[in-house]
Amino acid sequence: MKKLIKSVCIAVAFVALSFQGFAQEKAKTVIVIKNANVFDGVNEKLIENTDILIENNLITQIAKGIKPPKDAQLIDINGKILLPGLTDAHTHLALHSEVDYLIYSAPEGYMGAKAATNATQMLMRGFTTVRDIGGPTIGLKMAIDEGAVIGPRILPTGSMISQSSGHGDFNARQINWSQYFAGQIDPAYIRGWTTIADGIAEVQKATRETLRSGASQIKIMGSGSILGAQDPMDVTEYTIEELRAIVKEAEKWGTYTAIHAYTSESVMNALNAGVQSIEHGLFASEEAFKLMKEKDAFFSTQFMAFSATPEEAGMNAVARPKYLQAKEGADNGYRLSKKVGVKMAFGTDLVGGLEMNTYQPQEFVARLKYYTPYEILVQATSLNAELFERAGKRHPYQEGKIGVVKVGAYADVIVVEGNPLKDIAILAEPEKNIKLIMKDGKVYKNTL
Ligand SMILES: [Zn+2]
Repeated sequence: MKKLIKSVCIAVAFVALSFQGFAQEKAKTVIVIKNANVFDGVNEKLIENTDILIENNLITQIAKGIKPPKDAQLIDINGKILLPGLTDAHTHLALHSEVDYLIYSAPEGYMGAKAATNATQMLMRGFTTVRDIGGPTIGLKMAIDEGAVIGPRILPTGSMISQSSGHGDFNARQINWSQYFAGQIDPAYIRGWTTIADGIAEVQKATRETLRSGASQIKIMGSGSILGAQDPMDVTEYTIEELRAIVKEAEKWGTYTAIHAYTSESVMNALNAGVQSIEHGLFASEEAFKLMKEKDAFFSTQFMAFSATPEEAGMNAVARPKYLQAKEGADNGYRLSKKVGVKMAFGTDLVGGLEMNTYQPQEFVARLKYYTPYEILVQATSLNAELFERAGKRHPYQEGKIGVVKVGAYADVIVVEGNPLKDIAILAEPEKNIKLIMKDGKVYKNTL
């Protein structure tokens, strides 16, 4: 017995020692960025010629002439402009091939591996945080946070909630597979793409399950779509009672809901039910935009996605006429939302292939017709971050602020060649013009 106690004591001491050793190994990393002109994500006026102290993953001081602590790494950026890491409010990292293929045939490893590459490429375009608004990316987020995969921070949505025949219902039009294979479960559900739910009880369960899986916010399919094979674009999906039930469940978890909605009716229903983020929304009436403003909801639409030709946008024969129709309505939606003055998120919604995502930074240029470079930069940094914060306690990144350069913010920054406040097109060539990319205090690119 005595011997046993002794060996247990030794083991405990050894464990304690190794923990101590581990703690000593993980010394604080300190970086000082010298001679920066800072766009802080909020103010148009730059903070000129300043230094930034970064301790581990947070910005802890912004001041002229910071005396670098011993062992600090110095990065002199010689008067270049430093800005918050870019953010995207509407990505689908896992949706990199035909959706039917991904759901029904593709090996999950293929889906996951390509999604990881998608994420890495996104970070290397300067996007340090994205809200992934549908699809199985919760595992990818975990792998990135662990450092096993290089990519942006992800606020994942996980499985999207759709009614039968809604935008998330991928059943072929003529065959009801759930009846055909009685008792079998739709692979779209099993593989984390969409949950088909009809009626109050089912939508409540679907919302609860999605939250259990680790979603930061909930995505509802609220209207017809361009890419959906079964739902014409003019269709309004879900009743206001069903929408209210989803919103309520999300609110109990301290988070919010986003909705895919094109028709004015679906936008109005969603806003009246308490949905806080309207995705696409381009056919909303002026009345609907006014309600959006009154409710302080975000308008999360895309500009670049509707400035391409159907071929460039990768539309198939079914989607082509719907895409052209959406494109026609788009300008009206952009102008109305700008006129009413709703909060505009910055998102891209690029799906279908890794090469499609290389267009992501073109969104900056596509917005120039409607917004100033300063306004666009705010959308892509602090304003998106404000939207992300609506996830409340479900927001995965609580230690610092996102989308701003200030004391207490995460050290998520980029350094660029040129001045994006004067020429935002420089961001459309990230490989050439983004000289430094830092996320969570770690440098992923430095060509200074
Ligand atoms: Zn989308």
